[in-house]
Amino acid sequence: MEDNKMNAQPIDSKIPEGPIAEKWTNYKAHQKLVNPANKRKLDIIVVGTGLAGASAAATLGEMGFNVLNFCIQDSPRRAHSIAAQGGINAAKNYQNDGDSVYRLFYDTVKGGDYRAREANVYRLAEVSNNIIDQCVAQGVPFAREYGGLLANRSFGGAQVSRTFYAKGQTGQQLLLGAYSSLNRMIHAGKVKSYNRYEMHDVVIIDGRARGIIAKNLVTGKLERFAAHAVVIATGGYGNTYFLSTNAMGCNCSAAMACYRHGAYFANPAYVQIHPTCIPVHGDKQSKLTLMSESLRNDGRIWVPKNIEDAKKLQAGQIKGSDIPEEERDYYLERRYPAFGNLVPRDVASRAAKERCDKGYGVNNTGKAVFLDFSEAINRLGIDVIRQRYGNLFDMYEEITDVNPGELANEINGVKYYNPMMIYPAIHYTMGGIWVDYELQTSIKGLFAIGECNFSDHGANRLGASALMQGLADGYFVLPYTIQNYLSDQITVPHFSTDSKEFDEAEKRVQKNLDDLMAIHGKRSVDSIHKELGNVMWEYVGMARTKESLETALQKLKELRKEFETNLFIPGTQEGMNIELDKAFRLRDFITMGELIAYDALNRHESCGGHFREEHQTEEGEAKRDDENFFYVACWKYNGTDETAPTLIKEPLHYEAIKVQTRNYKS
Ligand SMILES: Cc1cc2nc3c(=O)[nH]c(=O)nc-3n(C[C@H](O)[C@H](O)[C@H](O)COP(=O)(O)OP(=O)(O)OC[C@H]3O[C@@H](n4cnc5c(N)ncnc54)[C@H](O)[C@@H]3O)c2cc1C
Repeated sequence: MEDNKMNAQPIDSKIPEGPIAEKWTNYKAHQKLVNPANKRKLDIIVVGTGLAGASAAATLGEMGFNVLNFCIQDSPRRAHSIAAQGGINAAKNYQNDGDSVYRLFYDTVKGGDYRAREANVYRLAEVSNNIIDQCVAQGVPFAREYGGLLANRSFGGAQVSRTFYAKGQTGQQLLLGAYSSLNRMIHAGKVKSYNRYEMHDVVIIDGRARGIIAKNLVTGKLERFAAHAVVIATGGYGNTYFLSTNAMGCNCSAAMACYRHGAYFANPAYVQIHPTCIPVHGDKQSKLTLMSESLRNDGRIWVPKNIEDAKKLQAGQIKGSDIPEEERDYYLERRYPAFGNLVPRDVASRAAKERCDKGYGVNNTGKAVFLDFSEAINRLGIDVIRQRYGNLFDMYEEITDVNPGELANEINGVKYYNPMMIYPAIHYTMGGIWVDYELQTSIKGLFAIGECNFSDHGANRLGASALMQGLADGYFVLPYTIQNYLSDQITVPHFSTDSKEFDEAEKRVQKNLDDLMAIHGKRSVDSIHKELGNVMWEYVGMARTKESLETALQKLKELRKEFETNLFIPGTQEGMNIELDKAFRLRDFITMGELIAYDALNRHESCGGHFREEHQTEEGEAKRDDENFFYVACWKYNGTDETAPTLIKEPLHYEAIKVQTRNYKS
């Protein structure tokens, strides 16, 4: 690997010249567009139907392009985006509480620990308001105030209320909006929808992305699709850790296919660990459940002040509601008075870990803290609290059999309700396929949008900003920027899939599947995936060290060998074979795991979700090294999965924001 000295590489991020607030305006004014009559001559593949993919496919279809849209689920509506609970940010300032485009921009850059590309974030903040208008026009039922105005709540890392929401099911409602636009375009013949198709490879012709090889997950057959450009919108790689809040089908295989063809993979070490998830409760679990960050608007996080109380809780001798107010340590409010329970996720997660590591955990494993609504229920009444979080309370009760809205105790006239138990878990990935300002990868004609690109969140994403970014990319950014590329393609006729490049790509994919089926070992896909998750959580998780990362790389090498020699896949390649599909994804998760470890090992600093124990302040806060690490780490594939990748650095340039140490205390 290269040394850590700043060495600017010739990497063209295509950031327009001029003041930050004018870049996007100038870009739109000067870019090349495609004449409406020529749009129907151009085919675009969009892989993914989450909020990023569905919004892009619908918009590109609406504009007149021919779109082929793929997803692995049986309906676009089942993309993982449907799970998003808490809300979507925008700088509307409906509350008149001092919000602005600049403030959203600033909070996002600061929240990302000054590791995001400044120009992209400004654009994101600018288009955030259009997203809300677009979704309201589609009929998305955002929560409203009594007087009819759209309601807002607060999310971490912000001191204003800018999060628009639909109960605890914002992703579902936004996706239904995008899906209805998509259906309109399917009906109009502008979008062809391919459900239960999994992209296995991207086809490159003369250095440009010109198509994909996809497996029909029902018949098991490989099929070829050609287009003038390919857009990847396949979500994040959180499931590398096996246990995460992501949907079970989330995977990184399409991103890894692009990476193997030379698309840079940026900042893989930036993985987000969300503080408010239902704690792991056994080794048979395959899924973790998020309790939305929105709960931190009214829920207060605490552990006992007294270690003896913690021990009794761990032994099941007392309950949280037995501990009175004065014996509770609201440690976020104590440590971060200015932001309290609404500090960003990385800060809240580390603080929970710190308390549990010191022995103050509140469940039988000692790995949980309380999220308590007693104060809010006493102040506002249970009806108001249920209106805000009813479905989240129900979800919590269904999983744990504890109702957080139920009165549990009364001490000295104060009513105490059942607190939730929560603990940090893998949730979101800030890293992803490297893209320039136009959202184009380092391969011409190959674009990446939504969670699968690295774009706007730096080292830590603020709550409610993923939906904002996915929809900004899909509705408002890509539909402009892709035209700059396509305007040069109007004389290129529709492609045939009968070419040597498609032949070779299909043969490669077929060989991979044959190799997997030929292993005939003894271990199930899930057992190896679980082992991968354990290695990742243990050695590349919330706290990392040089030693732990080197151990991880060694263990991952052994795990790859185990996978290649001892994997068992029942059945055949004919028809549907879910184990084979999972094995295909697991191979890529192992490569992804190594990539995360390489990046984390290289980054000798702590920033956002990447915490190196060697680099912390006396108070245990993340300590950045701006002199040596003020860059996007782009990793380039070196020919085989076993070979270490090469690091290429994109230096960051900040012109509007002063880079400083994050402060959520005052
Ligand atoms: C529980 C939970 C709650 C969340 N709540 C919020 C929230 O309140 N606010 C917020 O801003 N963010 C939230 N997030 C994050 C946010 O939901 C995601 O970042 C976002 O939905 C990702 O959207 P996407 O379109 O990029 O990808 P996804 O929604 O993951 O969609 C990926 C698409 O790609 C397809 N796909 C994948 N691989 C292939 C392949 N090889 N071939 C073909 N198709 C493929 C899938 O079928 C799917 O259609 C939450 C995340 C979780 C886990």
